[in-house]
Amino acid sequence: MSQISLDLEPDVIYTNPGIPLASGNQRMFNKILVFLSQKPVRKSTISNLDRVRFIIAEIFDFASSDSMIWNSIRSTNIRRPARNFIWKAMHEAFHVGLFWDHVQHLEHLGLCSECRLPETMEHILLECAFPGQQIIWTLTKRLWNMRWSEWPKLTLGLLLGCALTKYRTLRGSQHHSRNRFFAIIASTSMYLIWNIRNERVLGGRTHTETEIHNRWVALLNSALKRHQLLTDKIRFGSLSRKRQLVLETWRGVLHNEDALPEDWINCKGVLVGIRPDTQNSGIG
Ligand SMILES: [Zn+2]
Repeated sequence: MSQISLDLEPDVIYTNPGIPLASGNQRMFNKILVFLSQKPVRKSTISNLDRVRFIIAEIFDFASSDSMIWNSIRSTNIRRPARNFIWKAMHEAFHVGLFWDHVQHLEHLGLCSECRLPETMEHILLECAFPGQQIIWTLTKRLWNMRWSEWPKLTLGLLLGCALTKYRTLRGSQHHSRNRFFAIIASTSMYLIWNIRNERVLGGRTHTETEIHNRWVALLNSALKRHQLLTDKIRFGSLSRKRQLVLETWRGVLHNEDALPEDWINCKGVLVGIRPDTQNSGIG
Protein backbone atom coordinates (compact mmCIF):
# COMPACT_ATOMS: atom_id res chain seq x y z
CA MET A 1 0.00 0.00 0.00
CA SER A 2 2.78 2.40 0.88
CA GLN A 3 4.10 2.50 -2.70
CA ILE A 4 0.95 4.35 -3.78
CA SER A 5 1.80 8.03 -4.12
CA LEU A 6 -0.99 10.21 -2.77
CA ASP A 7 0.33 13.48 -4.17
CA LEU A 8 -1.79 15.72 -2.04
CA GLU A 9 0.61 18.58 -1.41
CA PRO A 10 -0.06 21.77 -3.33
CA ASP A 11 2.18 22.41 -6.33
CA VAL A 12 4.22 25.38 -5.23
CA ILE A 13 5.38 26.56 -8.61
CA TYR A 14 1.90 27.63 -9.54
CA THR A 15 0.07 28.00 -6.26
CA ASN A 16 2.43 30.22 -4.31
CA PRO A 17 4.18 32.77 -6.48
CA GLY A 18 5.53 34.63 -3.44
CA ILE A 19 6.98 32.08 -1.05
CA PRO A 20 8.74 33.33 2.09
CA LEU A 21 12.37 32.24 1.80
CA ALA A 22 12.29 30.54 5.18
CA SER A 23 9.43 28.26 4.18
CA GLY A 24 10.97 26.87 1.00
CA ASN A 25 13.77 24.43 0.31
CA GLN A 26 16.53 24.37 -2.29
CA ARG A 27 14.77 21.97 -4.59
CA MET A 28 11.65 24.08 -4.61
CA PHE A 29 13.53 27.29 -5.35
CA ASN A 30 15.51 25.65 -8.13
CA LYS A 31 12.27 24.56 -9.72
CA ILE A 32 10.90 28.08 -9.52
CA LEU A 33 14.09 29.62 -10.93
CA VAL A 34 14.14 27.22 -13.86
CA PHE A 35 10.54 28.05 -14.57
CA LEU A 36 11.02 31.81 -14.29
CA SER A 37 14.04 31.74 -16.58
CA GLN A 38 11.92 30.29 -19.38
CA LYS A 39 10.57 32.85 -21.79
CA PRO A 40 6.84 33.21 -21.27
CA VAL A 41 4.87 32.20 -24.36
CA ARG A 42 1.85 34.31 -23.69
CA LYS A 43 0.16 33.84 -27.03
CA SER A 44 0.07 30.07 -26.86
CA THR A 45 -1.06 30.03 -23.24
CA ILE A 46 -3.94 32.36 -24.08
CA SER A 47 -4.87 30.26 -27.05
CA ASN A 48 -4.87 27.09 -24.91
CA LEU A 49 -7.05 28.77 -22.28
CA ASP A 50 -9.45 29.63 -25.10
CA ARG A 51 -9.42 26.06 -26.39
CA VAL A 52 -10.50 24.83 -22.95
CA ARG A 53 -13.07 27.59 -22.56
CA PHE A 54 -14.55 26.93 -25.97
CA ILE A 55 -14.98 23.19 -25.60
CA ILE A 56 -16.35 23.38 -22.05
CA ALA A 57 -18.89 25.96 -23.25
CA GLU A 58 -19.77 23.86 -26.28
CA ILE A 59 -20.27 20.55 -24.48
CA PHE A 60 -21.52 21.70 -21.09
CA ASP A 61 -22.92 25.14 -21.81
CA PHE A 62 -20.72 26.55 -19.09
CA ALA A 63 -18.62 29.72 -19.24
CA SER A 64 -15.25 29.27 -17.52
CA SER A 65 -12.90 32.05 -16.47
CA ASP A 66 -9.09 31.79 -16.61
CA SER A 67 -8.94 31.30 -12.85
CA MET A 68 -11.47 28.43 -13.02
CA ILE A 69 -9.30 26.75 -15.63
CA TRP A 70 -6.09 27.20 -13.61
CA ASN A 71 -7.86 25.99 -10.46
CA SER A 72 -9.13 22.89 -12.23
CA ILE A 73 -5.54 21.97 -13.13
CA ARG A 74 -4.69 22.01 -9.43
CA SER A 75 -7.37 19.45 -8.63
CA THR A 76 -5.97 16.73 -6.39
CA ASN A 77 -8.25 14.25 -8.16
CA ILE A 78 -5.43 14.31 -10.69
CA ARG A 79 -2.07 12.92 -9.65
CA ARG A 80 0.70 15.44 -9.31
CA PRO A 81 2.83 14.35 -12.31
CA ALA A 82 -0.23 14.60 -14.53
CA ARG A 83 -1.12 18.00 -13.02
CA ASN A 84 2.37 19.24 -13.84
CA PHE A 85 2.10 17.82 -17.34
CA ILE A 86 -1.21 19.58 -18.00
CA TRP A 87 0.09 22.85 -16.62
CA LYS A 88 3.19 22.74 -18.82
CA ALA A 89 1.12 21.71 -21.83
CA MET A 90 -1.11 24.77 -21.21
CA HIS A 91 2.04 26.90 -21.45
CA GLU A 92 3.41 24.89 -24.38
CA ALA A 93 6.55 24.44 -22.35
CA PHE A 94 7.49 21.15 -24.03
CA HIS A 95 9.91 21.04 -26.92
CA VAL A 96 7.65 19.37 -29.43
CA GLY A 97 6.26 20.10 -32.88
CA LEU A 98 6.32 23.71 -34.03
CA PHE A 99 8.87 24.68 -31.35
CA TRP A 100 11.57 23.21 -33.61
CA ASP A 101 10.55 25.33 -36.60
CA HIS A 102 12.60 28.13 -35.07
CA VAL A 103 15.71 26.08 -34.37
CA GLN A 104 18.02 26.13 -37.35
CA HIS A 105 19.11 22.70 -38.66
CA LEU A 106 16.89 20.91 -36.16
CA GLU A 107 13.55 21.56 -37.84
CA HIS A 108 13.20 17.82 -38.55
CA LEU A 109 12.82 17.17 -34.81
CA GLY A 110 9.39 18.76 -34.99
CA LEU A 111 8.07 16.02 -37.27
CA CYS A 112 6.57 12.73 -36.14
CA SER A 113 8.81 10.06 -37.65
CA GLU A 114 5.88 7.74 -38.34
CA CYS A 115 3.22 10.14 -39.61
CA ARG A 116 5.54 12.77 -41.16
CA LEU A 117 3.34 15.49 -39.64
CA PRO A 118 4.20 18.22 -37.12
CA GLU A 119 4.42 16.44 -33.78
CA THR A 120 2.22 18.84 -31.83
CA MET A 121 0.75 17.92 -28.44
CA GLU A 122 -2.56 17.35 -30.19
CA HIS A 123 -0.87 14.98 -32.61
CA ILE A 124 0.86 13.07 -29.79
CA LEU A 125 -2.21 12.74 -27.58
CA LEU A 126 -4.94 12.21 -30.15
CA GLU A 127 -3.75 11.51 -33.68
CA CYS A 128 -0.43 9.69 -33.82
CA ALA A 129 -0.25 6.33 -35.58
CA PHE A 130 2.48 4.97 -33.29
CA PRO A 131 1.08 2.38 -30.85
CA GLY A 132 -0.13 4.26 -27.79
CA GLN A 133 -2.84 6.86 -28.02
CA GLN A 134 -5.35 4.79 -29.94
CA ILE A 135 -5.09 1.73 -27.68
CA ILE A 136 -5.23 3.89 -24.57
CA TRP A 137 -8.28 5.92 -25.62
CA THR A 138 -10.11 2.77 -26.71
CA LEU A 139 -9.54 1.30 -23.24
CA THR A 140 -10.54 4.57 -21.56
CA LYS A 141 -13.77 4.76 -23.52
CA ARG A 142 -14.50 1.09 -22.76
CA LEU A 143 -14.15 1.71 -19.04
CA TRP A 144 -16.33 4.83 -19.21
CA ASN A 145 -18.97 2.95 -21.22
CA MET A 146 -19.25 0.32 -18.50
CA ARG A 147 -21.26 2.97 -16.67
CA TRP A 148 -21.90 5.96 -18.93
CA SER A 149 -23.16 5.93 -22.48
CA GLU A 150 -21.78 8.94 -24.32
CA TRP A 151 -18.03 9.27 -24.48
CA PRO A 152 -17.22 12.81 -25.64
CA LYS A 153 -15.24 13.51 -28.77
CA LEU A 154 -11.78 14.23 -27.42
CA THR A 155 -9.94 17.42 -28.29
CA LEU A 156 -6.82 18.96 -26.80
CA GLY A 157 -9.04 21.57 -25.12
CA LEU A 158 -11.14 18.92 -23.39
CA LEU A 159 -8.05 17.03 -22.23
CA LEU A 160 -6.44 20.16 -20.79
CA GLY A 161 -9.79 21.00 -19.17
CA CYS A 162 -10.51 17.45 -18.03
CA ALA A 163 -11.13 18.55 -14.43
CA LEU A 164 -13.57 21.23 -15.52
CA THR A 165 -16.34 19.09 -17.02
CA LYS A 166 -19.87 19.93 -15.89
CA TYR A 167 -21.84 16.74 -16.17
CA ARG A 168 -25.20 17.16 -14.48
CA THR A 169 -27.70 14.85 -12.87
CA LEU A 170 -31.23 14.58 -14.24
CA ARG A 171 -32.25 17.15 -11.66
CA GLY A 172 -29.66 19.59 -12.96
CA SER A 173 -27.20 19.56 -10.08
CA GLN A 174 -23.51 18.87 -10.61
CA HIS A 175 -22.72 15.20 -11.11
CA HIS A 176 -19.63 15.21 -8.89
CA SER A 177 -18.73 11.55 -9.20
CA ARG A 178 -19.05 11.56 -12.98
CA ASN A 179 -16.97 14.74 -13.33
CA ARG A 180 -14.39 13.30 -10.98
CA PHE A 181 -14.25 10.00 -12.84
CA PHE A 182 -13.71 11.78 -16.16
CA ALA A 183 -10.84 13.83 -14.70
CA ILE A 184 -9.21 10.70 -13.26
CA ILE A 185 -9.37 8.56 -16.38
CA ALA A 186 -8.60 11.33 -18.90
CA SER A 187 -5.59 12.63 -16.95
CA THR A 188 -4.22 9.14 -16.28
CA SER A 189 -4.55 8.17 -19.93
CA MET A 190 -3.07 11.33 -21.44
CA TYR A 191 -0.10 11.24 -19.10
CA LEU A 192 0.58 7.61 -19.99
CA ILE A 193 0.45 8.47 -23.71
CA TRP A 194 2.96 11.26 -23.10
CA ASN A 195 5.29 8.95 -21.19
CA ILE A 196 5.13 6.23 -23.80
CA ARG A 197 5.91 8.81 -26.48
CA ASN A 198 8.93 10.02 -24.51
CA GLU A 199 10.21 6.51 -23.93
CA ARG A 200 9.99 5.93 -27.68
CA VAL A 201 11.34 9.25 -28.95
CA LEU A 202 13.95 9.95 -26.27
CA GLY A 203 14.70 6.42 -25.12
CA GLY A 204 14.43 4.54 -28.41
CA ARG A 205 11.99 2.02 -26.96
CA THR A 206 9.25 0.18 -28.77
CA HIS A 207 6.08 -0.90 -27.00
CA THR A 208 3.84 -3.85 -27.72
CA GLU A 209 0.08 -3.44 -27.59
CA THR A 210 -0.02 -5.86 -24.67
CA GLU A 211 2.47 -3.79 -22.70
CA ILE A 212 0.54 -0.58 -23.32
CA HIS A 213 -2.73 -2.27 -22.36
CA ASN A 214 -1.28 -3.66 -19.15
CA ARG A 215 0.38 -0.41 -18.11
CA TRP A 216 -2.92 1.39 -18.52
CA VAL A 217 -4.75 -1.24 -16.43
CA ALA A 218 -2.08 -1.02 -13.71
CA LEU A 219 -2.33 2.79 -13.58
CA LEU A 220 -6.11 2.73 -13.33
CA ASN A 221 -5.95 0.15 -10.55
CA SER A 222 -3.48 2.32 -8.73
CA ALA A 223 -5.73 5.39 -9.15
CA LEU A 224 -8.58 3.37 -7.64
CA LYS A 225 -6.39 2.30 -4.74
CA ARG A 226 -5.31 5.91 -4.20
CA HIS A 227 -8.92 7.01 -3.87
CA GLN A 228 -9.67 4.15 -1.48
CA LEU A 229 -6.79 5.27 0.74
CA LEU A 230 -7.86 8.90 0.55
CA THR A 231 -11.04 8.12 2.48
CA ASP A 232 -8.90 7.76 5.62
CA LYS A 233 -10.04 10.76 7.68
CA ILE A 234 -7.51 10.24 10.45
CA ARG A 235 -4.58 10.23 8.05
CA PHE A 236 -5.68 12.94 5.63
CA GLY A 237 -8.02 15.13 7.68
CA SER A 238 -9.58 17.87 5.57
CA LEU A 239 -7.92 16.47 2.44
CA SER A 240 -9.64 13.12 2.82
CA ARG A 241 -12.35 12.07 0.39
CA LYS A 242 -15.90 11.26 1.37
CA ARG A 243 -16.37 7.52 1.39
CA GLN A 244 -19.69 7.74 -0.40
CA LEU A 245 -18.24 9.89 -3.17
CA VAL A 246 -15.41 7.42 -3.81
CA LEU A 247 -17.86 4.49 -3.86
CA GLU A 248 -20.07 6.43 -6.26
CA THR A 249 -17.16 7.52 -8.49
CA TRP A 250 -16.10 3.94 -9.21
CA ARG A 251 -19.52 2.30 -9.15
CA GLY A 252 -20.26 0.27 -12.26
CA VAL A 253 -16.69 0.03 -13.51
CA LEU A 254 -15.25 -2.57 -11.12
CA HIS A 255 -14.16 -6.12 -11.71
CA ASN A 256 -16.57 -8.70 -10.28
CA GLU A 257 -18.55 -5.90 -8.72
CA ASP A 258 -21.53 -8.08 -7.82
CA ALA A 259 -19.29 -10.11 -5.51
CA LEU A 260 -18.10 -7.04 -3.59
CA PRO A 261 -19.81 -5.75 -0.45
CA GLU A 262 -21.77 -2.52 -0.79
CA ASP A 263 -18.97 -0.65 0.95
CA TRP A 264 -15.72 -2.03 -0.50
CA ILE A 265 -13.48 0.85 0.63
CA ASN A 266 -11.49 -1.29 3.05
CA CYS A 267 -11.43 -4.39 0.85
CA LYS A 268 -8.14 -5.48 -0.64
CA GLY A 269 -7.79 -6.35 -4.31
CA VAL A 270 -10.63 -4.19 -5.66
CA LEU A 271 -9.82 -3.73 -9.36
CA VAL A 272 -11.21 -1.91 -12.37
CA GLY A 273 -13.37 -3.91 -14.75
CA ILE A 274 -10.82 -4.10 -17.57
CA ARG A 275 -8.34 -6.87 -16.98
CA PRO A 276 -4.69 -7.15 -18.01
CA ASP A 277 -4.10 -8.65 -21.42
CA THR A 278 -2.67 -12.07 -20.66
CA GLN A 279 -1.98 -12.99 -24.30
CA ASN A 280 1.74 -13.03 -25.05
CA SER A 281 2.55 -11.30 -21.77
CA GLY A 282 3.27 -14.24 -19.55
CA ILE A 283 0.72 -13.03 -17.00
CA GLY A 284 -1.60 -15.74 -15.97
ZN1 LIG B 1 2.58 10.46 -35.39
